[in-house]
Amino acid sequence: MTDLLVKGGEVIDPAQNIREKLDVAVKDGVISQVAADIDPSGFAQVVNVAGKIVIPGMIDLHTHVYEGVNQTGVSPDVAGVLSGVTTVVDAGSAGCYSFGGFPKFVVPNNKTRIVCMLHISRVGLNYQPDLSRREDIDIEETVNVIKANKPLIQGVKIRAVGPGVPRMGVEMIRLAKQAATEGGVRLMVHIGDRSIVGTDGPTLTQELLPLLENGDIITHLFSGNPGRIIGSDGKVIPEILEAQERGVFLDTAHGRQNFSFDVARQALEGGVRPRSISTDLTIPGRQNTVHSMTEMLSRFLALGFSLEEVVRMSTINPASALDMDDRLGTLQVGRVADISVLSEETGSWVFHDTQGDTLTGDKALVPVVTVKDGEVFSPDWGPRPWGWLPDSVS
Ligand SMILES: [Zn+2]
Repeated sequence: MTDLLVKGGEVIDPAQNIREKLDVAVKDGVISQVAADIDPSGFAQVVNVAGKIVIPGMIDLHTHVYEGVNQTGVSPDVAGVLSGVTTVVDAGSAGCYSFGGFPKFVVPNNKTRIVCMLHISRVGLNYQPDLSRREDIDIEETVNVIKANKPLIQGVKIRAVGPGVPRMGVEMIRLAKQAATEGGVRLMVHIGDRSIVGTDGPTLTQELLPLLENGDIITHLFSGNPGRIIGSDGKVIPEILEAQERGVFLDTAHGRQNFSFDVARQALEGGVRPRSISTDLTIPGRQNTVHSMTEMLSRFLALGFSLEEVVRMSTINPASALDMDDRLGTLQVGRVADISVLSEETGSWVFHDTQGDTLTGDKALVPVVTVKDGEVFSPDWGPRPWGWLPDSVS
């Protein structure tokens, strides 16, 4: 008896260059067969997904899921399996003095796979501003906590924002990079500083980008705030293109403050190639602006990306950013049975960025079924009063 058959959907798996009607069989939490018209007899559970899209389990590379600890931390399963997402990356909600609750209370109480970036600020995002002065950083303890918590911890996070910027300058990024290097993990850097809008306060983006290596991650790539990747001449800053060439991973986390359609268009025209789509989901973000991973995918469809591209940017690409592409991000036989089943809806929708601009689109993706480690979940109602679909054009 085989455990599960996901039957009748259209499989889109960019890592294998597959887009066709195929069934997916699962045994012992692992993908055991992908083929057309698999006989459903002999399966303990058959999920009929005719007319739906079957993709590798989505990976949201930037969320905040320290539920019950951070004031805005959303439940990992609400951001995860109940939203069509099988892996969430917590982007620095905890620092080295506050991390202990993740392995003890958060991970065991959720079904969604969780990966963490450890904030370079010793208290993480429990308190803001998160980084004001040198004393907020404890390199030795940060490295200790990383080493004691691998593979749960896969990176160090720093936000290039707030009072730490004028006080410490790029030294704060150097310290975070040092901790990441000593801990043997990557560095993830938030760019875009809302706190200095309307001032001529300093930003670090151009100074910090040369410090990043192949495998480090820039998040909020299309931020419209000071520190954005578009210079005062309206052109893409050269440092971001050089970083891209070196293999720095470019993530687009939307969040409540850091996504501009104008910056996205200018950046794409200037040769910037974003690698992943992510939410920066929080409790208020789920209610306003961000809403869901599938809504982020729908925005990228409206920006002109193809369905295959948005699937790639939410599956195999973020898996490779985490060095987990040998287990996650594709539906190859033998991989972990993480599967997202989506419905593609046609209509007339409007998307709002964080700068007050809008974009319309005619396709929207919504989650239908999630399979994580072979276990089947039904998404909840969704973040809107009417469910998962974006705002209708009125
Ligand atoms: Zn964030």
